[in-house]
Amino acid sequence: MPNKAKIPTSVALTSPDRGKLVVWAVIGVAVLALAYFAWGAWSSRSRAQDVAMLCSNPKCGYTRAEPLQVGESLPMTCPRCGQRTLMAAFRCPKCGTPNIWNENRNALPPTKCRKCGRENYHD
Ligand SMILES: [Zn+2]
Ligand SMILES: [Zn+2]
Repeated sequence: MPNKAKIPTSVALTSPDRGKLVVWAVIGVAVLALAYFAWGAWSSRSRAQDVAMLCSNPKCGYTRAEPLQVGESLPMTCPRCGQRTLMAAFRCPKCGTPNIWNENRNALPPTKCRKCGRENYHD
């Protein structure tokens, strides 16, 4: 395997087996680090998007964590109240209230939280 000879040059000076072990250890650490960062990115993303859709019908208040999927268009039919009132939304970082983006209601940003009034910008 000529392409593999390049990787363990420094560690292969001792013995080939030990070199192999170090390489595997490095790979293991790299995989763990990658998994850690992937998990961190995933968990922070899922935290930010635990409300991605909100029914604008005040009597309904249905929320959905999954953002708009391919083939779906806004406003969507709400599975709870059956009206075309499901829009892209976010959870207020300050008070946790779900809000529909102004951009999705033909209004101008920023979207003010309907509860605490915090100004939010679409990223
Ligand atoms: Zn609804
Ligand atoms: Zn708020």
